[in-house]
Amino acid sequence: MPLSEFELIKQYFTRQAKYSSVVKSIGDDCAILSIPESQQLVLSMDTLVSGRHFPESAAPYQIATRAMCTTVSDLAAMGATPLWFTLGLTLPEIDEQWVAEFSRGLFDMADRFEMDLIGGDTTQGPLTITIQVHGTVVEGQVLKRDAAKVGDRLFVSNYIGDGAAALAAIQQKINVSSDAKNYLLSRFYSPFPQIELGKAVVPFAHAAIDISDGLLADAQHIADASGVGLVIDVDRLPINACLQQYDSDAVRAWALTGGDDYQLLFTVKEAALQELEKVTKEKKISVTDIGRVVAGEGVQCCVDGAPYILSTQQRGYQHFTA
Ligand code: ADP
Ligand code: MG
Repeated sequence: MPLSEFELIKQYFTRQAKYSSVVKSIGDDCAILSIPESQQLVLSMDTLVSGRHFPESAAPYQIATRAMCTTVSDLAAMGATPLWFTLGLTLPEIDEQWVAEFSRGLFDMADRFEMDLIGGDTTQGPLTITIQVHGTVVEGQVLKRDAAKVGDRLFVSNYIGDGAAALAAIQQKINVSSDAKNYLLSRFYSPFPQIELGKAVVPFAHAAIDISDGLLADAQHIADASGVGLVIDVDRLPINACLQQYDSDAVRAWALTGGDDYQLLFTVKEAALQELEKVTKEKKISVTDIGRVVAGEGVQCCVDGAPYILSTQQRGYQHFTA
C-alpha cells in the first residue's frame, strides 16, 4: 500500500524544530513564528519544474539540494540570516524511495543553513518543487538592488561560468574530465549560497544581487533599479581553472550570460574597499573586482578599455521568451 499524503508528510517532512523561534511547526493549519525584536522578515520563493530547472534524470537528493541552495541564495543576496522554509511539493505519484532521498537532501541543506522546515503543501501532478524561504535582517540593514552609486566598484564572489558549463556537461555538449565533471555537477546541484558574504558586506556594500539568470542580466537589474550604468571588464572575470581548456569566447559567454552561478554581485564605494578586503580575508571568501558603476544606464562590457561585443546577443535566460 502506498503511503497516504498525511503519512508521507509525517514520515519524511516532519521533525522537531531545531533552530529558531518556531512556536508551532508542521501539524496545524498554519505555522506560528516569533520574529526577533527589531528585526525584519525577508521572504522569497522559487519554483523548480522538472525538465526545465533540472533534468528529468536528476536524482531526488540533487533536486532537493538544488532547490534549497538556489532559493536560499536570494536571502544571501539581501544580507539576511536564513531561519525557516516551507515546501510546496507536487509529485506524479508517491515513490517512497524517491521521497526518502529527496527528504535527505532537503534536511542536509536545512542543517547546513540552520533552517527549520515549518510547513508546506503536497499535491499530485507533474514533478514541481516550490520552496519559500524566510530570513531576518536587523531593521534596515539589508542589501538591495537599487542602491548602487556612481563611483562604486563592482565585485563578484568566487567563480562565474560554472553553472553554464555544468549544464553543457550534463547535456553532453562538452567533453569533461571526471574531476572537472564532479566539480561542475556539485556546482550545479549544490551551488552554496553566499550567506556569510552577504551578511558580512551589509554594513558597507551599496547594491547587491545574486547571479541566477546570468551576470549581464542580473547586472542589468542593478543598473535599472539604481539608475546607473555598469562597466564590466571581461578580462577580470573570475573563471575556474577547469574551464580554461575550452574556447575562450565560449567561456566568456558562459560567464556573462549563462546563469545558475548563484554568486553575489555587489557594489562597494571606494572608501570601503579596505573594509571589504579585511572581511573577505578574515572569512576566506574570494571576491573579484570586475568593474565599476558609472553615470548613465545599461551594462557595458569591455576588454582593454575597448567595447566587447558578445558573439551571441543572448542576455540571460527568461521564461516565455526562450
Ligand atoms: P490544510 O489542509 O490545512 O491546508 P495540509 O493538509 O495541506 O493542511 O497540511 C497539513 C500540515 O502539513 C500543515 O502543517 C502543512 O504546513 C504541512 N505540510 C503539508 N505538506 C507539506 C510538505 N510537503 N512539507 C512540509 N510540510 C507540509
Ligand atoms: Mg487548514
